[in-house]
Amino acid sequence: MIVFDLKCKDGHVFEAWFPDSAAFEKQKAKKAVVCPMCGNRRVTKAPMAPNIASGKSREHESNKTPAQPNAAEMMVMLSKLRQEVEKNADYVGEKFPEEARKIHYGETEKRNIYGEASKEEAEELVEEGVEFQRIPWVRHDS
Ligand SMILES: [Zn+2]
Repeated sequence: MIVFDLKCKDGHVFEAWFPDSAAFEKQKAKKAVVCPMCGNRRVTKAPMAPNIASGKSREHESNKTPAQPNAAEMMVMLSKLRQEVEKNADYVGEKFPEEARKIHYGETEKRNIYGEASKEEAEELVEEGVEFQRIPWVRHDS
């Protein structure tokens, strides 16, 4: 559902609900949208507050703060993340699923580990409720 602020030819502003934007256009075309105050069928969408404010200020902001970090920044972030993990966790390689389970079930001392797991192994761990995070791994030499 979507709510529109509508305005009739006489300037009455009212709200109307539609399943979606297309439904509004369709009903408007059929002149099925009627002003509840005067019955006028010449109804248009009233400009909504966020749209009015969108002009300069939004452009200005987007110049300052890009919504998405670019690829290079992403690589730097992931590289830092990798360094953090390497500093604070033990590398267990392909034994990751096994070690993660041992820790989960209390068979070994709780510690931070990192390593590799296949998609299937990772899914099994999720099903068992083993907590872990997947991170995109960047190569040092890249
Ligand atoms: Zn009206």
